[in-house]
Amino acid sequence: MLLLASALLVLSTSWAAEDAVSGRTLQETNFISHTSIPWDAARGLGSQDIPVDDPLLPKDEPGLAPDQVHLTFVNGTAVSVSWATGDGVAFIFGRANTSAANAQNTQSVVQFGTKSGALDRTAKGTTTSYATSYTGFVNETGYHNNNPTYNYSSPLFHHVLLSNLAPSTTYFYRVGEANDGGQSQEFTFTTMPPPGTYPFALGVVADLGQTYNSSTTMQHLAASEPLAWILVGDFTYADEYTTNGTLTWGGFPNNTYLRPFEPFGSFQPRWDSWFRLIQSFASRVPLIPNHGNHELEPQGDGHYAAGLDGGRQFTPYISRIPVPYQGSGSPSPLYYSVDVGPAHLIQLTNYDDWAPGSPQHQWLVKDLATYNRTKTPWLVANWHAPWYSSYTKHYKETECMRQAMEDLLYDAGVDLVLAGHLHEYERTNPVLDYKVDACGPVHITVGAGGNVEGLYQTFIDQPGPGNCPPPDTLPFYQPGPYCPSFPFNTSNQFAGYCPTTGQPDWSAFREPAFGHGLLTFVNNTHALWQWNRNQDDQSVNLDEVYLIQNPARCPNQPYPRMLNATRNVMSRGPYK
Ligand code: FE
Repeated sequence: MLLLASALLVLSTSWAAEDAVSGRTLQETNFISHTSIPWDAARGLGSQDIPVDDPLLPKDEPGLAPDQVHLTFVNGTAVSVSWATGDGVAFIFGRANTSAANAQNTQSVVQFGTKSGALDRTAKGTTTSYATSYTGFVNETGYHNNNPTYNYSSPLFHHVLLSNLAPSTTYFYRVGEANDGGQSQEFTFTTMPPPGTYPFALGVVADLGQTYNSSTTMQHLAASEPLAWILVGDFTYADEYTTNGTLTWGGFPNNTYLRPFEPFGSFQPRWDSWFRLIQSFASRVPLIPNHGNHELEPQGDGHYAAGLDGGRQFTPYISRIPVPYQGSGSPSPLYYSVDVGPAHLIQLTNYDDWAPGSPQHQWLVKDLATYNRTKTPWLVANWHAPWYSSYTKHYKETECMRQAMEDLLYDAGVDLVLAGHLHEYERTNPVLDYKVDACGPVHITVGAGGNVEGLYQTFIDQPGPGNCPPPDTLPFYQPGPYCPSFPFNTSNQFAGYCPTTGQPDWSAFREPAFGHGLLTFVNNTHALWQWNRNQDDQSVNLDEVYLIQNPARCPNQPYPRMLNATRNVMSRGPYK
């Protein structure tokens, strides 16, 4: 039975009408709901990583046979097919490196066609690989040399673009070449429908990891049958291991954190196992990627600046996933946009400079000014660490980025913002600058994939020492000089840093649980958001809201070409 800590409905009754699409009652002003479900101690914090010898984790293909097959979204008529040949090998300096080198001559070839067993088309692509080297570690007292050096040599990664695909068509494909050591089994995927097709469903997960909970999340995500899926950062949690493969997350229930290498260690074979775990889904449904802090994986030379940093950060991420950033004129795989179905999707980063004048900020201004809202009526942004969260952990961690970019997104009429990083679920009411605002985006945090770190249990407004974190510390991982309100303290605009009267007004629904989201665009004005918990049946969506655009309501937008994306948000309220 669910325990509701608080359940409050605030209804405006000045005007109401039946909505034809949703079958629900629309209110003239926002329908504001507040639901707060406490952490369920009986369910615990989560589970450990799946051992590499567990049947849930498919084995590495022998020799140079392809594995880790996955698709990446490119555009409505193109998809990238990626896979690995050879083994990823972790070794101590001085041992032979034979993994990617042995695979060098394997070809990047995909045979595909619209009939099973009759693959009449061929596409060729490119390869890449990487090696990591950790010569030391960093902790509170600085950089420490830590001989011997732990190295990793990746498999060879193949990326092949399949373009000019027919819409709503099922394709069959095999990767690799038999003469090179093996061709894969036949996989299948279905292409995007023609522009203007509704409904259009996107899966949303974040902070996935590779625990038994992660596996359940992927099974439920598959059952939701999205046309594509967004992973809003934190993929494998390979960096929860030291470079020699020792798990540094101490386990449950005490949740002891034993991570001396933080954040400079990483055990790269866990990237390989992760891609095998998700292959059955990722080989048939294209991923729209965004990264998180667990993809930073800087090399252990004591250097930890923001951004790509000359190739010393995000290397595993960008080597294994062909991030489709170039189509939107972005100079960096850390931020880009794509049109997917009826949505213009803007992928931003917390982990490179976001200040006005920075390349990311400049690119965002240009992207918002040039995209076509008539063609893609839905504007959805995402980045890993949320701006709005009422959980103690990471509270206001991204406050400086919010100050730098929130007005820009508000003025553009962004409908929805997706995030992860917080291992829980939370949906806001439409919000601007911590105030409920009918013209503001709804922010949804769904860092609930099920990783080894476990759930976050505590809300900022919960009584108890430390539940409201001290405000005067620099948010972790936050680059850039722009932050007028730093240092935060109770004498500036953050007076009342944490609310003391319960769930903040802007927080609509929060619950520490694992699960995934499904975002279904119903038509040009209606989108349905559904939060599906792992412990529930697929037919049960604990939180379910329609986002409804109402262009008549928000004047004075600076981009006159755009529709004014005002919306009423409806909720069925507390779950019974
Ligand atoms: Fe994170």
